[in-house]
Amino acid sequence: MDAACKENAIRGGPRPMPRLVAVGKTREAGEIAALAGEWATLRPGATLAFGENYVQEASAKVAALDGTGIEWHLIGHLQSNKAAQAAALFDWVQSIDRPKLVAALAAARDPQRPPLNVLIQVNVDGEAGKHGCAPADVPALAESIAARPTLALRGLMAIPEPHPDLEHRRAAFATMRTLHDALLAGYPGADMLSMGMSEDFELAISEGATMVRIGSALFGPRPPA
Ligand SMILES: *Cc1c(COP(=O)(O)O)cnc(C)c1O
Repeated sequence: MDAACKENAIRGGPRPMPRLVAVGKTREAGEIAALAGEWATLRPGATLAFGENYVQEASAKVAALDGTGIEWHLIGHLQSNKAAQAAALFDWVQSIDRPKLVAALAAARDPQRPPLNVLIQVNVDGEAGKHGCAPADVPALAESIAARPTLALRGLMAIPEPHPDLEHRRAAFATMRTLHDALLAGYPGADMLSMGMSEDFELAISEGATMVRIGSALFGPRPPA
C-alpha cells in the first residue's frame, strides 16, 4: 500500500476525482473557446470550469463565450465594490476572506438564480500582506455564509506560498486538508478543497485537493507581466 492509499484508509476512504478549473487569465476568449472545444471532445457532457482573476477581464470573456455552458470561477482577490458585478458574472467565487464580502455577495446575488457557490480563501502560511483569512476565522465565515440563502458554502481554497522546498508546501496542503475535514463535519455540502496549480497539483491532490486550478500547464507559459 503506498503512502497516499494508507493515508486514505486512515482518513476514511478515497476522495472523489479532483475537479479541474482551467485558469484563463491573460488568455483571449478564442483560446479559451479552443480549449473548451478540445475538452468537450475528450469528456463529452462534462461541465467545463474556467477561472479568472479579475472581474473586468472576465466580464468581456463571459460575454464573448455566452451560451457555451462554461462554468465561471472567480479565483482572484475581490474588492467589495465589485461584488455586485461578480455575483452576476460568476457561478463560483473562490476568494471569500472577510465578512463584508459575504454580505455584499449575498445581497447582490439574484435570488431567482441558483445560489452562488463560494469557497473561503485561507492564508494558510500566514504570509504578511497576502489575501485569505486566518485559519481561526474559518468557522465564523462559514456560519455567516451558511445563513445566506443566495450563497452556497462549497469549501475552502488556498494558494500556499510557492516555497522551493516541496515538504514545506506539503505541510501547507496537509494543514488545509485538516481544516477542510473540520469544516466538512459541520457542513457536508462544503465538499471542495481547491488547492494546487501547474507546479504542484500532484502534491496537492495527494494531500486531499478535490479541485485544482491549472493555467500554464494547459495554455503554455504566460508572457511576463
Ligand atoms: C494564475 C493562478 C492559477 C494558475 O496558475 P498556473 O501556475 O498557471 O497553473 C491558480 N490559481 C490562482 C489563484 C491563480 O492566480
